[in-house]
Amino acid sequence: MPSPEEASTSTAEPTFKSLGLINPLLEALDQLKYKEPTDIQREALPHALEGRDIIGVASTGSGKTAAFALPILQKLWEEPRGLFACVLAPTRELAYQISQQFEALGSAMGVRCAVLVGGMDLIDQAVALAKKPHIIVATPGRLQQHLTETKGFSLRGLKFLVLDEADRLLDLDFGPVIDQILKIIPKERTTYLFSATMTTKVAKLQRASLSNPIRVEVSSKYQTVSTLLQYYLFIPLSQKDVHLIYLANSLASNSIIIFTRTVHDAQRLSIMLRILGFPAVPLHGQLSQSARLGALAKFKSGGRKVLVATDVASRGLDIPSVDIVINFDIPNHSKDYIHRVGRTARAGRSGKSITLVTQYDVELIQRIEEVIEKKMELWPTDKEEIALLRERVNEAGRLAINEMKEQAAGGGGGRKRRVQGGGGRDDRDRDDDEVEAGMPSRKRSKGRR
Ligand code: AMP
Repeated sequence: MPSPEEASTSTAEPTFKSLGLINPLLEALDQLKYKEPTDIQREALPHALEGRDIIGVASTGSGKTAAFALPILQKLWEEPRGLFACVLAPTRELAYQISQQFEALGSAMGVRCAVLVGGMDLIDQAVALAKKPHIIVATPGRLQQHLTETKGFSLRGLKFLVLDEADRLLDLDFGPVIDQILKIIPKERTTYLFSATMTTKVAKLQRASLSNPIRVEVSSKYQTVSTLLQYYLFIPLSQKDVHLIYLANSLASNSIIIFTRTVHDAQRLSIMLRILGFPAVPLHGQLSQSARLGALAKFKSGGRKVLVATDVASRGLDIPSVDIVINFDIPNHSKDYIHRVGRTARAGRSGKSITLVTQYDVELIQRIEEVIEKKMELWPTDKEEIALLRERVNEAGRLAINEMKEQAAGGGGGRKRRVQGGGGRDDRDRDDDEVEAGMPSRKRSKGRR
């Protein structure tokens, strides 16, 4: 997939101006330093500005958000009115990011956005709706809740519907809610559907929601970018912690995301890192929504150099300038690996990923290498330095477990969990992310991953 910067290297290609965008948008693009349209923007904008429905096959990092936000804002400028567009996104974080992009691109137009997601105060959101936003960005469950519970709120008059990351929306069992929303919104509207993959479920949703759409596609293959250097460390399961600290130590000047499979390990490792003097912050689905946003904000601003996250953070998040992704646990699915390492080497920059591989993971890493069609390189280590770290790491590990026990006993740590040793191969507290607080009786699809 070409990054925005790669996409901007060809001189013969159209510019934002030649594509027909109006001055207030060109000004905002200039301020954001988007010099040239990316592939998906170049492909989608001419059709979108003609008023066509669009199916965009593109994933995060391609510039897809601006590809759907720009034509919506242009139409809003041409016929200003109340509630204009509704964007459905699978996760809360993605919803906030989309809204921020609308606000940045529509800054010269005074666009008003409201974000409706689970885990945040319903009343605050109702107040935001009362201020008559032009754009609503929502997770489906919470949108439906407002439609039934918030007086005076409806989607009558809506001109645009966007289904972003449709494959994930459907993976997360949002299909039935989306069907209900489709029934009550105006038939006379423009619809954009974006998805990283075209599954049969997505094709069905496409038939139900779009009319005579144009399909634009920038990449249908999951791949890692060439500016990403991918490494692995082969170590015994019992030595994961000390190797992680060794990496954090030798890479201390970089911004790092460490991915773990379980909530428990994300929490444990972030405490352990902090005890050892690394500015780390956890991000997982068992934190409150405001804690998650706070963690992300601290990391984005550079206040914390290390983010320890479960897969809740691996998709859809636009975190700029991450230098290194460390996979403390290897993901079971190659697709998740690609999403995780996709947090670095974005927009033409370079980046590194380092995956800890134990005796139990050899098959998984080989499968990933097959999918990405690349061999990972061995990350060099200094055995003496690791031996010197061992005692302090073990002690910090014990202190971290104690702190977690105290938090749980004090009622501050959520549900109690079994304390486990260093490896964290227990899947019982795996982070089933995006638990929508506002969603009525959502089925959990077991075995999804
Ligand atoms: P998205 O795929 O929408 O998540 O966008 C990925 C990143 O690319 C975001 O940080 C955008 O701000 C950035 N971006 C989008 N369009 C452009 C562009 N034309 N030039 C440079 N950066 C862009």
